[in-house]
Amino acid sequence: MVSDRCKPFAFQRLRVHFTNRRAVNLPDADVAFRSSDQVIFRVHLKNLETHSDFPPSAFCTPGSGEVVDLSEPAATLELLFQYIYPQRQPDLTEIELPLLADLAEAVEKYQVYSAMDICKIFMGNGLQDNPLTVLNYAVRHGYPEIADEAAPLTISLPLEEIGMHMLQMYMGSWVSYYGEWQKILELAYAEGWRIGHNNTCRISNSATCPQWLAARQNILTKLGARPGVLNDLAMIFTTAHGLYPCAIESLRQWEYFIVVKVKDIPKFRTFL
Ligand SMILES: [Zn+2]
Repeated sequence: MVSDRCKPFAFQRLRVHFTNRRAVNLPDADVAFRSSDQVIFRVHLKNLETHSDFPPSAFCTPGSGEVVDLSEPAATLELLFQYIYPQRQPDLTEIELPLLADLAEAVEKYQVYSAMDICKIFMGNGLQDNPLTVLNYAVRHGYPEIADEAAPLTISLPLEEIGMHMLQMYMGSWVSYYGEWQKILELAYAEGWRIGHNNTCRISNSATCPQWLAARQNILTKLGARPGVLNDLAMIFTTAHGLYPCAIESLRQWEYFIVVKVKDIPKFRTFL
């Protein structure tokens, strides 16, 4: 948040190590901000007002030499401020997700309109590798389609990670959503015991086919106790097909039953 204290503008402390600063820190800039790591950025108030809901005038007088403290680090502000100028925008393909996530948060916080859509696209692209970071961003800023896509992948994460990093105000939603996955895992178990060896057995009578018995045990073991395994069904069942060819038909039916149930899990947005 913007601080309610204005400090004397300290131009001499301005660092100049950024190579892609471009329009930021032009000599005639009339407002100044200090990052959390003490780098000062001088920008033009008229650009801020035009491209964002940044409220510097509420805290410091333009041209007064005062500096507003911001909570974001310099790396984030360096990117952020480029979006308020008519120039080529930063290449986000080169940016690691933690910095991209910080930028996306700042963009939403200060309502930097020109950067919102591109940040949304790149955050959405990162959900395979960082589903929880992306889910937090999506729920906090109202992007349900991204939340729906990221949420299933968070089911596979360690619960400790969820506990540490999921936004607290959405934890109840997440736990309810997780509960739906847990129910499907229980149904998957029950189906394994129900389905039996239902094609013509090439080895023995259908009740005791050693391949089916072994296949069932193999799948039940791999299913384990954590519902995140339901994200890996294809791999688990395909591996079993090769090991237990006499049981393929039953395995296919079993997998199909689970896949349909997983597909029917309500979208994450319905738990918000
Ligand atoms: Zn058999």
